[in-house]
Amino acid sequence: MNIHEYQAKEIFRKQGIPIPPGEVATTADEAEAIARKFGGTVVVKAQVHAGGRGKAGGVKLAKSPEEAREVAEKILKLTIKDLPVQKVLVTPAADIETEAYVGIIVDRASKKPVFMVSPAGGIDIEEVAAKTPDKIMRHPVDARYGLQPYEAMEMGFFLYDDVKKARAAAKIMQQLYAAFMKSGASLAEINPLVTTPSGEVVALDAKMVVDDNELDRLTDVAGLRDESAEAPSEVEARKANLTFIKLDGNVGCVVNGAGLAMATMDLVKYYGGDPANFLDIGGSSNPEKVVSALRIITADPNVKAILFNIFGGITRTDDVANGIVTATKQNPLKVPIVIRLTGTNEEIAVKILTENGFSAMTDMDEAVKKAVALATGKAA
Ligand code: GDP
Ligand code: MN
Repeated sequence: MNIHEYQAKEIFRKQGIPIPPGEVATTADEAEAIARKFGGTVVVKAQVHAGGRGKAGGVKLAKSPEEAREVAEKILKLTIKDLPVQKVLVTPAADIETEAYVGIIVDRASKKPVFMVSPAGGIDIEEVAAKTPDKIMRHPVDARYGLQPYEAMEMGFFLYDDVKKARAAAKIMQQLYAAFMKSGASLAEINPLVTTPSGEVVALDAKMVVDDNELDRLTDVAGLRDESAEAPSEVEARKANLTFIKLDGNVGCVVNGAGLAMATMDLVKYYGGDPANFLDIGGSSNPEKVVSALRIITADPNVKAILFNIFGGITRTDDVANGIVTATKQNPLKVPIVIRLTGTNEEIAVKILTENGFSAMTDMDEAVKKAVALATGKAA
């Protein structure tokens, strides 16, 4: 689950991280009023679940309340990475001397929270990693003991030579670690962590991703979900108990099982295509899930072909076939569909599909090749 910058900042502030105050506005009027209250130059920041807002025109300085109104009006009309901006954060502008990056992620390989810190902040850490990898320090934390002060200090000195600044950064890292652990986060990030001309170390941006599996346990955190800011397809998928992640390609994938879904996406890429989504309809066989899945996928205008890849184990392939028939009767398809299924009740499934004008395949490679060809317009 993604949360907004202003929500992440609130969590970070509770741990003591120095962050300028801020208030959220949904209209240009409100933004102006908040700017007037703070006085001086403010920053107006789009609150959307996307990084790189600065580059997309979603972060703007405003020298007066009137200017804050103007920029808020513009930002509230923006769509950043397909997400319409509905709220802005208005916050007093800080004077920036340097920008650093501080983040924690869960690292699957070491099964540990890993700090990544870099004195080259402000820009995407991926860019730093690609161009100047030695400007990033990685530090795994043993969760049994937590982040020790000496470890935090070592990272502090990687960012700053000045002992005062290094100490301030080290303290912030310990506070960030506490916020990360308490919130069931899979990522917590401050980019930029800035130094000001008066020597303070301050967090100007905050990002946190919460592990969905923690939400039953952490109801406070779960309450931070903003459905209106999520991709509608992802909201619908969650309600239908489907694991769905929207991607940028044009081959809509409906698969049962996360492993097979990953393998299918790999194969789509291998044959020169691009998956439009990750979608796992799960192990149970419920035609309703297939109906929801098809509705979600066909709502994406990028989808040029649909690929079903079903391995019938617990999932009965005839249930999937029935789901396809029901869904396409309700909502006739406008794009070609390729169905590959094998396993439990395969003969029945094939019969249902052929009786309804569909063809079914059993070979995964052939099916993926065909779907890619259809999506890219190169006939199979
Ligand atoms: P992001 O692009 O979505 O990561 O949004 P950020 O909050 O990180 O803002 C992008 C950039 O805007 C920062 O790297 C800063 O350079 C600039 N910025 C953000 N807040 C301030 C501020 O208070 N003062 C100044 N001068 N620049 C700011
Ligand atoms: Mn940022």
